[in-house]
Amino acid sequence: MDFSLTPEQRELQEAARAFAREQMASVARECEDTNEPPSHAWRKRYAEMGFLGVNTPEAYGGLGLGNLEAVLVLEEFAQVSVAVAFPIFEANVGPVKAIEKFGSEELKRRVLPKVCAGEIQVAVAMSEPNAGSGLTDLTTKARIEGDKIVLNGQKRWTSGGGHAEGYVVYCRLSDQPGAKGIGAVYVELGTPGLSFGKREELMGFRGIPSADIHFDNVTVPKANLIVPAGGFGKLMEAFDLERCGNATMALGVAAGAFESALAYSQERKQFGKPICDFQAVQIKLAEMKTKVEASRLLLHRAVSNAAAGLPSVLESSVAKCFANEMVRDVTGAALQLMGGYGYAKSYGMEQRMRDGWAWGIAGGTVDIQKINIASALVGRRFDQRR
Ligand SMILES: Cc1cc2nc3c(=O)[nH]c(=O)nc-3n(C[C@H](O)[C@H](O)[C@H](O)COP(=O)(O)OP(=O)(O)OC[C@H]3O[C@@H](n4cnc5c(N)ncnc54)[C@H](O)[C@@H]3O)c2cc1C
Repeated sequence: MDFSLTPEQRELQEAARAFAREQMASVARECEDTNEPPSHAWRKRYAEMGFLGVNTPEAYGGLGLGNLEAVLVLEEFAQVSVAVAFPIFEANVGPVKAIEKFGSEELKRRVLPKVCAGEIQVAVAMSEPNAGSGLTDLTTKARIEGDKIVLNGQKRWTSGGGHAEGYVVYCRLSDQPGAKGIGAVYVELGTPGLSFGKREELMGFRGIPSADIHFDNVTVPKANLIVPAGGFGKLMEAFDLERCGNATMALGVAAGAFESALAYSQERKQFGKPICDFQAVQIKLAEMKTKVEASRLLLHRAVSNAAAGLPSVLESSVAKCFANEMVRDVTGAALQLMGGYGYAKSYGMEQRMRDGWAWGIAGGTVDIQKINIASALVGRRFDQRR
């Protein structure tokens, strides 16, 4: 077992780190202040660096590398802020992967090169007002009529809602109840009948627009079908990678928080010496570092074992669950360690705490991940409805 990165992986990681820290720190502050995402010009710059197609095959405009390389890049941006990392999250480990793995060749050729080129961003619309953890209760309907698909319904909490140019919409494609009737369809921004609710005000995630989506006889070509009814299992397979992306975002926030707290503890003096000279502070720092490293190892295991494919539900859920709880612990400890400055907006730590908290709700709550883990361990599903 080799825990070291190859020279090429280190080079990519360093390029991402330099770009994220040198160019995106001021953009991140702007996103936080204005609640607007990075401009399209930045998306283009990401594309020029290859950051929007790290693990996308070269045939579709990507770098053709693996999932480990993708999360290495993503973590560097998440250390700066989730808003500047979000386009990279969506492109490398987000809903685009469902299209890449299961979409028709025509759809892949239409969508993937544009994502890699930074021309479009694709969001995922799964949750509904009455279908969150119980996702298979979703009611948004898609009817196939000849060579068209007609969608009706409503989605909630879509990150990128109203801003992204494309949507992977989980919907009911047959009358079969539960998971059996669910598939997914690709819908483009600007399609008649597609509209958005008002921008949500969230606790964190500033710079990542979120809104309800309404589908009122939204009609798209049949070629936009990603998976037909009965394909829910496939969608969840692709989602195993999104879980790893979620874990990466949480990890990045925590790693950034740790680094700031470590630096602060060496600069801040009380009782005439740096606070890192106090044993209680040393223990805090050691605990934070251990948690961040453990999270990174779980994540790297999940994506390395899957190489260029999709991670297992067990390993991706373990990685997400640990990272989601870890980031809450680490940002809380980092904030405390910075005293009043930790609580002040101008020092950025309270933002990390707010942004970090979200990942244990988004992409499936921590408790739902634990049910997935237990289910994988005993090899059967636990029906939550009976
Ligand atoms: C920042 C953020 C970004 C998001 N982005 C997206 C997105 O891009 N696209 C999208 O589709 N959705 C998105 N979501 C929605 C997210 O997936 C849901 O919020 C999540 O799945 C939980 O659903 P819910 O909010 O309806 O909570 P509920 O399902 O109502 O859960 C409420 C509580 O009950 C618990 N609970 C529910 N069922 C069980 C059970 N069987 N056993 C034990 N505990 C249970 C949950 O763990 C939770 O603590 C986002 C959410 C957030 C916060």
